[in-house]
Amino acid sequence: MTTEFAPPGPLDARDATRLRVLQCIRSAGAISRTDIAQALDSSPATVTSACVALLEAGLIREEQRPPSENVQRGRPRVMLQINGDALAVAGMKVARDAILVMIADFKGDEIGTYVSPLAQSRMSPDQLVQEVRRALDAACAALDMSPDQIAGLSLGMPGFVNGESSFMHWSSSVTERNVNFAPLFRRDLPCPTFLDNDANLVAKAEHLFGAGKGLRNFLVVTIEHGVGMGIVLNGELYRGERGCGAEFGHMKVQFGGALCQCGQRGCLEAYVGDYAMVRDAFTGRQVDAAKTIQDILDAARGGDTLAQEVLDRASQILGVALANLVNLFDPEHIVLARSRPPFDHPYSETLLNALRQNTVQVDAPLPEITVRNLNEMMWAKGATAHGIEMVTLLKLRGEGAEDAA
Ligand SMILES: [Zn+2]
Repeated sequence: MTTEFAPPGPLDARDATRLRVLQCIRSAGAISRTDIAQALDSSPATVTSACVALLEAGLIREEQRPPSENVQRGRPRVMLQINGDALAVAGMKVARDAILVMIADFKGDEIGTYVSPLAQSRMSPDQLVQEVRRALDAACAALDMSPDQIAGLSLGMPGFVNGESSFMHWSSSVTERNVNFAPLFRRDLPCPTFLDNDANLVAKAEHLFGAGKGLRNFLVVTIEHGVGMGIVLNGELYRGERGCGAEFGHMKVQFGGALCQCGQRGCLEAYVGDYAMVRDAFTGRQVDAAKTIQDILDAARGGDTLAQEVLDRASQILGVALANLVNLFDPEHIVLARSRPPFDHPYSETLLNALRQNTVQVDAPLPEITVRNLNEMMWAKGATAHGIEMVTLLKLRGEGAEDAA
């Protein structure tokens, strides 16, 4: 099956206004045009024009409400609401052992979730797209939906990914480098599909639904197999010029240091990522591929000095690296998110001491730090939020957008 669509590309001023109006309706629940104009400090004509486009695309609907009680002979008020039934989107995260799927309506409310197991954690680009198709079909079948009902699919993947062009420079989930996924998506998937870095999607989820709600400057650091980061600056996700910025995990912490899965040496995640800690804690011993962070913790508790050293070193390096982030960005808040068994190592005293000692000293408290034992579906939820935004742009540019403005 082939679908014809172009990625939405950069926002122009008209798109930006329409998205702001839509966001205003989304946060208010139900709101009149006059109140939107007031909230956005816009002219009524601008708001009316944006609403015409949103109504024609079927993304919002009108509801007549009786005049307020204190207005004796007022006219009925017309309230605008998000049309939750307008469309459904699928959000997916490619994890090591499964593709996590969430299907949501246009309001962002969950319709259902599905976990599609993966036989292997690294795949060719073609295999990956086939697995995504399989996950979509299985999720839809489980939820009694047809894949044709999905208006857009947003896919989060670890690695260096350009979210605007669906070009992947490198990912630990894929066996090849420099892959343009856009034509593969068009060839094999039934709906417009958007690729992004998974940590960016977690930042998006935290911004819309979590600890970053209402904040302008905050960071989300994800620690799992690798280490990722999402940066929100001035209320917007910062992606960098080539769309693959914020690779905190590959910040160098040691010249010629430990080998990283990206092929370079001395990266942060070569000391702090799960794979690196397992590798180092069981060096020179019978290495069991099934060993996990939990085994390192158990070994350390049992008096194993190598396991304890690996934990201490990871806490110290992560603490210094976080201090560098505070020194660079001066954020309001940092979320440390990890999806595997809750354990206290990333937030240990060693980490906090390293963070305090290496932060530039000013007469102000450190940014707030939240440790999040990330619900695995939060990744997929972030992907749905991104999918809703992308599909909105496609709808506005395609259906009824041209004559509306
Ligand atoms: Zn690296």
